[in-house]
Amino acid sequence: MARRRKGDQQDPWQLSLLSAIPGRERWEIKALRKNPGLAQNLETGLLSESGVLRARCNPVTGRVLIFYSPSTLNRSVESLLRNCLKNISERAVFPRLPAGSSAPHTASLARVIKSSIPARNQQILPPLLSVVGQALTLSRAPTFMIIFKTARGEGPRFLRTLGLVKTSSQLWFMLGLSTLLSFANFIIQPYRKRSWSRLGQATQHNLRTDLLAKIETQDMTFFDTYGTGRIVRLVTQDTENIGEFVERAGDELIEKVMTIAVCGILMLLISPKLVLVGSVSLPFFLLISRFYKPRIAESYARLGEANSNFSQKLENNLGGIAEVKSFTAEDREVARLHEADAQVTSLALKASGTSTIQSQLTSDMFAMGFILAAGQGGRMVAAEELTTDEYFRAAFWFPPLLSSLTTIEDVTKLYHRASDSAIRLAEVLDSSPQIQSGPVQLKVEAARGEIVFENVSFGYDPDVKVLENVSLHLRPGETLAIVGPTGSGKSTLLNLLLRFFEVDEGQILLDGIPIKDLELRSLRSTISLVSQEGHLFEGTVRENVLFGNPLASEAQVIKALRQASALDLIKSLPGGLDAAVGERGHRLSGGERQRIALARALLKISDGASVLALDEATSHLDSETELAIKRSLRQVSIGKSVIMIAHRLATVRSANKIVVLESGRVTEEGTHEELLARKGLYATLWQIQNDDP
Ligand code: ADP
Ligand code: MG
Repeated sequence: MARRRKGDQQDPWQLSLLSAIPGRERWEIKALRKNPGLAQNLETGLLSESGVLRARCNPVTGRVLIFYSPSTLNRSVESLLRNCLKNISERAVFPRLPAGSSAPHTASLARVIKSSIPARNQQILPPLLSVVGQALTLSRAPTFMIIFKTARGEGPRFLRTLGLVKTSSQLWFMLGLSTLLSFANFIIQPYRKRSWSRLGQATQHNLRTDLLAKIETQDMTFFDTYGTGRIVRLVTQDTENIGEFVERAGDELIEKVMTIAVCGILMLLISPKLVLVGSVSLPFFLLISRFYKPRIAESYARLGEANSNFSQKLENNLGGIAEVKSFTAEDREVARLHEADAQVTSLALKASGTSTIQSQLTSDMFAMGFILAAGQGGRMVAAEELTTDEYFRAAFWFPPLLSSLTTIEDVTKLYHRASDSAIRLAEVLDSSPQIQSGPVQLKVEAARGEIVFENVSFGYDPDVKVLENVSLHLRPGETLAIVGPTGSGKSTLLNLLLRFFEVDEGQILLDGIPIKDLELRSLRSTISLVSQEGHLFEGTVRENVLFGNPLASEAQVIKALRQASALDLIKSLPGGLDAAVGERGHRLSGGERQRIALARALLKISDGASVLALDEATSHLDSETELAIKRSLRQVSIGKSVIMIAHRLATVRSANKIVVLESGRVTEEGTHEELLARKGLYATLWQIQNDDP
């Protein structure tokens, strides 16, 4: 629950805590605002502290988000922040970023757009159409004036030059011309919108593609810290904001600038004095803009953050909907989501409120300018400094000039929203995974599947060891079983083997090559994993099995399902192989999911992977089915290495070697018979499992 503590008035940094859950705190530091140099230094400083896992400092909002390990951080986050800030100020390094990058949001936006906008030749047409279209629109007023004057018999000279002498023929000509212009306008305007829209959509599409590619290559830590909801929002909403900016900002800017230029020049030609009087409000306008701009930027940044937060909560809720229902927590969850959405609503209102006040004030300013100009114009007409004709012309040109000047601010609204998204996007686009692919290639068919763990130590949080000094040896073609209490680090061993995480000490070798040096693709293609979760993707059974080898034939899919004892099951499903498994496979039972996940892994094995890694892959199955699978596995795994994590000791009894893991250490190892003879934990567990009916 969000706690709020007001910043101390004497506090030079003005820190206030916005929210805290163990491992994650959000702070607001006033001094950080509009100070990207300090934000950057603080981020670097925080990351160098032990126990800080991730830190984000946003110079627009002044907010700091810290992920830390509660067990390692030996003081409060507040004192950590204060200490870092103090250090920075003592070193007095507030490097002002070079001009141009002084606003990180502008730099990020430019960078994000540049990397994703289509090739230059596609960038030419939209602005061109805007210029032509706007010129046509602007031509309406003078055409109207000319028609009016022609009707009064005061048509312009060029009509006579064209040989049109009679008023009526001049009028017909002008009507024809204006119809032609209107028609051209009618043709061009939709084209103009479409071409901008195409540019915006293409930019958004390219950006999404790049972003998705970047996200997919991130390591597990990234997903752990960001959360699915936030990532989804990044890919959907934030890219859309950028697309919208490209689609609308350029077009609107051209429209407004052209109007201001043309109407401004025409007004100046009529009477510079009148323009001067009409523009007395301009300095006020600039002041208002200066005052409101940072406030609007900030409120959009806050809104963006609140939106992300809401998506994250919603995703969490839907992911655990069964738990929500079983604990009858619907009301609580609705309240929680309601609170998060209320925050979005109030921030959205605040953001739009601030910009409404601003646009109201500016439009009032200009109305005032208009009235002043009208009065002044009247006086000038009376004093014969201005003809009535000029006065009416001025009345034509002044309003579009004013309205363009006032609404040019709308473009900045698009800009703020887009640049706020760009900061978030750039953060992901610029980050590279800590786990990098090595240089050594290993052909999948050439791999023998020998795995060695040498004195491996590891902790998700560097200071809390999950594995300590673990050494293992799996010879090619043999089966190694790992047993032990839950939480002892069994799944972690596989996480390390697949290099989802990096070992802290020691090393892991595949066929004698340290996996750090191997290409990630080679490493992961060699190992076929059935993870403990056994995640299925939304889609059909066939699609899920084919995930193991997209090129496999129907016969191979069926064979893999048979080996996983899943064939009868598939036959009983409506639609058979084409039965939909539902989101995360929720339409199937736990045991059914496991068998399909196993078939998927077996397909990868038949495609050449030489190591089969099973993490409690048969835990949801009855003993009979498990036995059947065990038999077929023996066949499938001829010549393959198998790492098998299991709870039920009967499952692993025939393994070449069994390793007992307790609290991250190997405490016993040997064959089933050897371990029984040792009368250790394994023997005890065996006795319990076999005595218990
Ligand atoms: P086992 O598979 O033997 O039941 P695990 O290897 O899954 O155990 O977990 C070992 C320890 O590591 C547990 O204490 C667990 O809380 C912790 N752990 C597992 N996964 C993560 C993770 N992604 N981030 C942080 N801690 C984790
Ligand atoms: Mg596990």
